[in-house]
Amino acid sequence: MDYLDNTNNDLGIKFIQKPFKIIHIDMDYFYAQVEERDNPSLKSHPVAIGGPSKTKGVLCTSNYIARKYGVRSAMPTFQAFKKCPELILIRPNFEKYKAASKKIHEIFSQYTSLIQPLSLDEAFLDVTHSSKCNGSATIIAQEIRRKIYEQTGLTSSAGVSFNKLISKIASDYNKPNGLTVVTPNDRLKFMNELSLRKIPGIGQTTMQRFERLGLRLCSDVISLGIHKVIELFGNKNGLDLYERCLGISNSPVVSLSQRKAMSVETTFSTPINARENIQEIITALLIELENRLKKASEVHFKNRRVTHIKIKLRTSQFETFTREVRLDDKMSDMIITKKALSTEFISLAQESLLNYYDTMKEQELRLIGIGIKFDKNFERQIELNV
Ligand SMILES: [Mg+2]
Repeated sequence: MDYLDNTNNDLGIKFIQKPFKIIHIDMDYFYAQVEERDNPSLKSHPVAIGGPSKTKGVLCTSNYIARKYGVRSAMPTFQAFKKCPELILIRPNFEKYKAASKKIHEIFSQYTSLIQPLSLDEAFLDVTHSSKCNGSATIIAQEIRRKIYEQTGLTSSAGVSFNKLISKIASDYNKPNGLTVVTPNDRLKFMNELSLRKIPGIGQTTMQRFERLGLRLCSDVISLGIHKVIELFGNKNGLDLYERCLGISNSPVVSLSQRKAMSVETTFSTPINARENIQEIITALLIELENRLKKASEVHFKNRRVTHIKIKLRTSQFETFTREVRLDDKMSDMIITKKALSTEFISLAQESLLNYYDTMKEQELRLIGIGIKFDKNFERQIELNV
């Protein structure tokens, strides 16, 4: 159930929070930690990833020893070496970071399909409807962090809360290797003591403005009253700021867009009379389709159904014809759960394609394509699964 912020405000605006369960996971000093894992002797030295050299480029990230010297990410390398002459500079190896990132995302997808990656090492997970770990977001976050460590040797931090805003702030709260949970009851206490600097998305200019106005904490903004905040920061920005300082945010976790369909096709530079070898072509296409299924991200399969086989034929006159044939649940289940095409699916695909080809007046083809179509009713199905 939604709940209402009961802080008095001078305009009587009602702030309503939807009760999400959100986990924000953030790997600790990611690139540098991967390098330390692969070369433990680095652990006792200040290390930064970036470059290309002492004099050129900027830093992506650094370990905590380097940070003690004031070395920061996005800092020009020459400046970092001024602050810390013994800094060890390593050129980024994105292949390694991507491999670790892939494993991490595989772990996330065991818990929810609503994952919003922010970068290679950071993501929001909406577990509002997840039945894993008895629906406890905190236990899910603990499990995920443990699995990440077991499978990649890397530590991460997590924030667990009822919206994206607070879960993101919370993941930074006990970094590195920490977990922070902020429940709806803790909201005002957590936000009141929070520095405005910790609110994501507040730029340098606004920060300077806060300083000039003597505003340091979120509670300082709230104390001004909403009327004054709007007067100072404008209607939209003022309201937005006030709402964030209250720790209220209803912005949803937007997952990687899911495929509507997946298909493979083969084209012929000169039109072929498909009659003799159409059977072989279909077989080859179905093998390729199955390979594509096996390689596709888990995101595309969670809480979904495959509804149709899609067929596409293009004639020598460049006319394209498509047809969709309905699938039954059994064939769909096999694709969704095993990422495999059942014998029934293969027969149906072959039969439908051959029949369709037979109905065409023209025998010469430039293209043969075959694919599957997913249902669109993803959101509704999540609700039904609760
Ligand atoms: Mg990180």
